[in-house]
Amino acid sequence: MDKIVSLCKRRGIIFPSSEIYGGIGSSYDYGHYGVLLKNNVKAQWWRALLQERDDVVALDSAIIQHPRTWEASGHLAGFTDPLVDCRTCKRRYRADKLEDGQCGEKPSKRPGEGPNCDLTEARNFNLMFETTVGPVQDEGSKVFLRPETAQGIFLNFKHYLQFARKKPPFGIAQVGKSFRNEITPGNFVFRMREFEQMEMEFFVPPHEAEQWYEFWKQARYDWYLKLGIREDHLRLRAHDEDELSHYSSGTSDVEYLYPIGWQELEGIAKRGNFDLTQHAEFSKQNLEYVDTASGERYLPHVIEPAAGADRATLAFLCDAYDEDEIEGETRTVLRLHPALAPVKAAVLPLVKKDGQPQMAREILSDLRDRMQVEYDEGGAIGRRYRRQDEIGTPWSITVDHQSIEDRTVTVRDRDSLTQERIAISDLPAELERRLRAPWKSPKLSAS
Ligand code: ATP
Repeated sequence: MDKIVSLCKRRGIIFPSSEIYGGIGSSYDYGHYGVLLKNNVKAQWWRALLQERDDVVALDSAIIQHPRTWEASGHLAGFTDPLVDCRTCKRRYRADKLEDGQCGEKPSKRPGEGPNCDLTEARNFNLMFETTVGPVQDEGSKVFLRPETAQGIFLNFKHYLQFARKKPPFGIAQVGKSFRNEITPGNFVFRMREFEQMEMEFFVPPHEAEQWYEFWKQARYDWYLKLGIREDHLRLRAHDEDELSHYSSGTSDVEYLYPIGWQELEGIAKRGNFDLTQHAEFSKQNLEYVDTASGERYLPHVIEPAAGADRATLAFLCDAYDEDEIEGETRTVLRLHPALAPVKAAVLPLVKKDGQPQMAREILSDLRDRMQVEYDEGGAIGRRYRRQDEIGTPWSITVDHQSIEDRTVTVRDRDSLTQERIAISDLPAELERRLRAPWKSPKLSAS
């Protein structure tokens, strides 16, 4: 993990937030390549749900919602983690994750294991961030930053029946920021207090719930595989009875083998009709679906695949990170699926003269229409290749002396390191073909 954190900082992918003020624990900013990478992750998620299907529609709901939302959803009463304090070192820990904590005294041990550790009884700590709306700060103005995007979907369910002309089975998908006052954030962007979720509520007739649960478990697992995550680093794990959330009658996690061990990447939950029932009761609105043909009416059941955009980005980074040796030097390379790579192709003139930069810029503007490309003319060509390897650019296009004579360029492949000569006029179509081709991590054949 340290190597990934350091690469992310070195290349401006992800770095600690507010650094000029000494940072603010477990808050991170995404730099240029990080924004491009996470945008690609989110775009692939949207693509799988919207473009490749016709039974899912999109939503972007507000972060601050009516406070009754969280009473109805059960978050106000139950969205808590067990918190313990140490009376000696004054640190706080999650009682159910003591094995991940570190005592504040030297020699550092697990909380509770040091000779001076003096832990309090566990008490429930609500993870929702509170704030107030408007100029008067009283009980009536108290609101919460959403701890999940899902509730915005339930609040709008009725609209979608009317405006989107959808009937179950259908899904509403949303991507956006969520906020949780985590007791022990950490492990880079794995657990933060402010993070992005990619969630979908799939509304189904009650008797179809089981079959759709099976469907979405598989579909979501396959999504990660298709985007290049190695199969031996990915698994589906069903929750034990005592792990289930208050709303869930069955949950499976897609887990990834991060450098910190197997951890949740995404949860797929059978939420029953819990949320719609609660919101119907609290809002006094009828949220039933009525089938106009048969007259049948029911509260749909819900299957929810809930993923984290930051955790997914981190998994793709971990899976892609590799080191090999070229000409006696260690090379760091991100072997990202081309669809996820922040930059698809770099255009590099071999020298800064003889018409090469002009030709490179021509190629650049031709490709720019179709994909994210980058121009770089600074420094030795080998160093420029390494820079592109470190941000995972799959193809580097070099303009050289021969290019000026016959309008061909070399295309260097990040993974195989082969250099192929291609006519400039064929480049756009060839790169688009490669971008669409099925892809498997080259780390699979190496391991
Ligand atoms: P955990 O058990 O790790 O706290 P969770 O089960 O509470 O996670 P969900 O409520 O199921 O998480 O949220 C769905 C997804 O949102 C998670 O699978 C994860 O990818 C992401 N997520 C949740 N909490 C965080 C966080 N603090 N930082 C980054 N991503 C998060």
